[in-house]
Amino acid sequence: MIQESAARPSVLLKTRLDEIIQNLGDAPDLDHALLSIVRSVRDLFRVDICLLYLSDPAQLGVQHLMAREGLADNAAPPAFANSLANLVAERLEPVHLFDSKALPTHKDAAGHVYLGVPIMHKGALLGVLIVQQRAKSQFSESEQASLATLAAQIAGGIQLAKARGSINASVSGDLQTPPLFEGVIGAPGIATGIGHVIYVRSELAQIPNREVADIESEIALFQAAVSRVAGELDRIADEQGGRLTAEDRTLFRAYAMIARSDELVTSTLTGIRSGNWAPGALRDSIQKHARYFEAMEDPYLRERADDIRNIGRALLNEFQTLEPVEEHYPSRTILVGEDLSPLDLAAVKGARLVAVVSGHGSRLSHLAILARSMGIPAVMGLAGTLPLNSLHGKSLIVDGYKAQLYIEPDASLKRQYRSLAARERRLTKKLCHLRDQTAQTLDGFRVPLYTNAGLLSDLNPSLAAGSEGIGLYRTEYPFMVRDCFPTEEEQYTLYRKVLKTFHPRPVTLRTLDIGGDKPLSYFPVQETNPFLGWRGIRISLDHPEMFLTQIRAMLRASSGLNNLSLLLPMISRVEDLDEALILIQRAHQQLEQEGLIIPRPRLGAMIEVPSAVYQVEALARRVDFLSVGTNDLIQYLLAVDRNNERVARWFDALHPAVIQALLRIIRAGKRSGTPVSVCGEAAGDPAVALLLIGMGVSSLSLSAGDLPRIKWTIHSFSRQQARALLRQVLKLEQASAIRSLLTQALVDAGLNTLVHPGILE
Ligand code: PEP
Ligand code: MG
Repeated sequence: MIQESAARPSVLLKTRLDEIIQNLGDAPDLDHALLSIVRSVRDLFRVDICLLYLSDPAQLGVQHLMAREGLADNAAPPAFANSLANLVAERLEPVHLFDSKALPTHKDAAGHVYLGVPIMHKGALLGVLIVQQRAKSQFSESEQASLATLAAQIAGGIQLAKARGSINASVSGDLQTPPLFEGVIGAPGIATGIGHVIYVRSELAQIPNREVADIESEIALFQAAVSRVAGELDRIADEQGGRLTAEDRTLFRAYAMIARSDELVTSTLTGIRSGNWAPGALRDSIQKHARYFEAMEDPYLRERADDIRNIGRALLNEFQTLEPVEEHYPSRTILVGEDLSPLDLAAVKGARLVAVVSGHGSRLSHLAILARSMGIPAVMGLAGTLPLNSLHGKSLIVDGYKAQLYIEPDASLKRQYRSLAARERRLTKKLCHLRDQTAQTLDGFRVPLYTNAGLLSDLNPSLAAGSEGIGLYRTEYPFMVRDCFPTEEEQYTLYRKVLKTFHPRPVTLRTLDIGGDKPLSYFPVQETNPFLGWRGIRISLDHPEMFLTQIRAMLRASSGLNNLSLLLPMISRVEDLDEALILIQRAHQQLEQEGLIIPRPRLGAMIEVPSAVYQVEALARRVDFLSVGTNDLIQYLLAVDRNNERVARWFDALHPAVIQALLRIIRAGKRSGTPVSVCGEAAGDPAVALLLIGMGVSSLSLSAGDLPRIKWTIHSFSRQQARALLRQVLKLEQASAIRSLLTQALVDAGLNTLVHPGILE
C-alpha cells in the first residue's frame, strides 16, 4: 500500500492526488489521461495490477476496459476483474473481494485479492477502477477508503478528458452526432455562433488554441519574451547584497536555464510553426515538460514540474506586456469563459454577442441576469463537464431553455434550431400587440409591470418591451465597470439619464449593493463567506461618505423630474433601515441648504433576508414601499448558494417555504397599506407570477425579455382563478407537485408555449 502511509497517509495521498489531477488536466487525450491514472494508482497503492473501465454510454451497465497497468502486453485481463467491474457498476459501491458476504460466489483460483470502486460524476457512473494484489490476504479499511477517495477526485478529470476526446473527434469528422453537453440554465433562448474564449491569463490550462496568420512575428514575440524573462532571472541571481541565499541564487539560475532550454524553446517554436499562437504553443510545451518531470521517481526532480509551470506563467505575463492581446470578436460571438464578468460582456460591442457559456454560476448569478436583460441565452456551470478552452473558434449551438451546448453541429441540427428560433420570433411578434396595453387580469386586477436594469444599454430593451418604469436599477453595475469609485458628478449624470429616459414613469434606484458575487476590483474585500458578509447596506453604513455621495447624486438627478424611488438592499434589522433613513434625510437637508429644492423621494426597503420577513410589519411602518428580492431571499431561506451550479436544483421559487414567506410579506404589506413589489428573477416565471397575483402583489419588476410573457399570463387568468390556485398550492408539500399543478393551469389557459419553450418540433 502507500509507503510512509503509517506516518502521514492523508498528506501523502493529497500530494499525490494533486499530481494525478494535474496530469489528468494536462493529458493530450483520453488514452494518455487514463494511462496516467492506472500508472499512478499502481505506484501509489503498490498493487500488482490496476485496471480502469469506462461505462458504455449507449449500453446501460456495460463496462469497457480502457487502461491497464501491470499486465504483460498481450495478456488478457483476468476474467475475474471483468465480472468484478460489472458488479461494482451494478451496486455503485466499492466491492472488496475478500469480503465473502459481498461476493460469495466468486473466487479467484489463484487467491488474489481485488478491490473495485465506482467512479461517479454528477450522480452518474463514469466507470470502475480495479486493483489487484497477490501477496495479501486483504485490503485494509484505510486502503479501501483511499481508493474510493481517489476515484471521487479523478472523476472530474476523466470527464474533461472524455469531453476533449469527443470534441476533437467531432472536429476531425469522426463522430456521427455532434457532442452535446449539459450545464445549468442561465438565460432562456437559443443561438448559433462561434465560440470566443476569454481566459485568465495566469491560468495555463485555460489558454485556448488560436490560429495565427503571421507566424514570424509570433516567433519574434516568443523569443523576446524568453530573453526578457531569462534576463530578469539572471539579474536576480547575480544581484549582490540582497536578501537571497546562495541556494536561492542557484534556483534562479536554474529557472533562467529552463526558460532558455532547448527543449522548451524548440517545442514551443514547433507549435507556433504549426499555426498556433505563442500562448497556446507554450501551454503545450510547458505541460509536456512538466509531465516529464512528474513521472520521475526522485521526489526532488518531481517537484521541478512546478518550477516549469511557474516559468510558463512568467512567459505568459511577458507576452501580455510585450503585445497586449486585442480581442477580435466574430460577428456572432458566443462568449465562453470559466468565470466571465459583466465587463467581458460589455466589451463585445454592437449586436455581435449572441450567447454566453460560463464555467460557473447559475440562473441567479449576475452574469446570467445580465444576459437575460440583454435578451441573449446563457448556459452556466459547464466547467466540470468540458474543457472550455477547446471551444475557441468552434461552431456552437446554445440552447438556454435546456441548458445544452452542441459543438460543431451538423447542417440538419442547425436547421432544426433555426426553425425553433423562427418560432420564438413568431411568438415574440404575436405578443407585440400587448406592448401598449396595461397588464391586468380578466377580471380587471391591475399589476403594473416594471423592468430591472443596471446598465444604460438595458434601457432600450425595457422601453421596447413596454415597461411601465424601472422597478430595480442596480447601481452597482456602473461601479463594477470602472476602475475607481465614480464621483458624485459622474453618478449624477448617469442617474439623470435613467430618470429622464423613463420620465414621467417611476424609476427605482437601488443604493449600492456590492459584496457577495458583485466585487469591485478597486475595493477588494476578502471574506470566507461573502454572501453572509459585508454586503449591500452594511458597506454603505460603514462608509457613510460613499453612501451620502450616492444619495446626493440620486436626489439631485431627480430635480424637476420627481419620478425617483430609492431602494435599500440587504436590510436584515430595523436599526440598519433607521440609520440609512437618517443619512438620506441628512443628504436631503444638505441639498436644501445648498439651495436645491427636491421633493422627498419614495423610500423602499428590500425584503431579501429571512429576518426581514419576520419583521416585515416593523419595516413596512418605516417606508413607502417594500420590494422582495427573491434571488437572495430564496438563497438565504433554502440555504442554497445562488451562484453554485452544483446546488442549482435545490434553488426553487416554488418551494412551499418560499411561498409561505411571500404570502406573509404581501399580507403584511396589505394590512399596513404598504405596496409590495417583487423584483427577483422569480417574478419572470409564469407559474410564480400566477401565485403572486393570487396573493395580491402590487407590482412586478422583471427582465425586459420576460415582460411580454408575464403580461400574456396576467391577461389569461382572472384574479379569482389565481386565488383558487393559490389555495390549492398552499395544501401541497413539495415544489414538484406545485410546479405540476401550475403548469397544468397554464396549459389549460392556452399558454403551452410558455411552459414548454424550446421544444424541437
Ligand atoms: C434579489 O436578490 O432578488 C435582487 C433583486 O437583487 P440582486 O439580484 O441584485 O441581489
Ligand atoms: Mg439581492
